Amino acid sequence: PSGASVLAPDPSFVMYKQVSLSLGLNYLGVPLNSETFDLDLKAMLDAIALHNPSLVFLAYPNNPTGNLFEKEAVIEIIKACKGLVIVDEAYAPFANASFMGELGKFDNLLVMRTLSKLGLAGLRLGYLAGHPLIIQELNKIRLPYNINILTQATAEFALQHSDLFNAQTAILCSERSRVLSALEAMSRFCVYPSAANFILFRTHPDQANTLFEHLKKQGVLIKNMSPQGGLMKDCLRVTIGKPEENDAFLQAL
Ligand SMILES: *Cc1c(COP(=O)(O)O)cnc(C)c1O
Repeated sequence: PSGASVLAPDPSFVMYKQVSLSLGLNYLGVPLNSETFDLDLKAMLDAIALHNPSLVFLAYPNNPTGNLFEKEAVIEIIKACKGLVIVDEAYAPFANASFMGELGKFDNLLVMRTLSKLGLAGLRLGYLAGHPLIIQELNKIRLPYNINILTQATAEFALQHSDLFNAQTAILCSERSRVLSALEAMSRFCVYPSAANFILFRTHPDQANTLFEHLKKQGVLIKNMSPQGGLMKDCLRVTIGKPEENDAFLQAL
């Protein structure tokens, strides 16, 4: 219904806010803990009690911070919420953690996944798992034939070659550890742990923009989070690439 509220922690995936606002919904962002980027459980529960949101989005791991929220806190939120809680597992291939196993326990929990971060972003394919009665309602408003046959055939082909995707994911995870250690060893940044295929790090005050531009001049494009302000001030986010790309990033840095 118009006037319904959508709640998500802040910062999180920007599309939650953008789509909510373009649908005329009341979007509420609740700040994460500024040190750990974990959920501020009390603030989340207070906002849920006050606004009774129809939807709560929790990215697990979170984008752009890379961390997994504390599982118990997520469960508290699912229990407290009268609306639907969507756990967005876009980065599941890198995380070794999931709420899929909780689906049978909570009727208001939905788990969302995408093939995008697996290296198939061009397919535009994702899926949602949840209680059959909720999925049944969503199927009523899904557009006819909304997933094209080329995408379906490609996904089936990819599934037959899951070994290749698993091997790729394993390399990305080991590269993530390598890049994280190298960043920490520079002793110039606050480096945040990540369960995703990127690493967030904080520069000394007011150095992020300069560093970002210097990297770009050397042909290395990362994401400058600092212009977002708030908890993201002085933060840069680097996506883990091929080993030689990661080397180029570290070298340029
Ligand atoms: C990338 C991403 C998605 C989905 O991306 P699509 O390409 O639209 O499937 C969803 N949630 C988060 C947190 C993401 O980072």
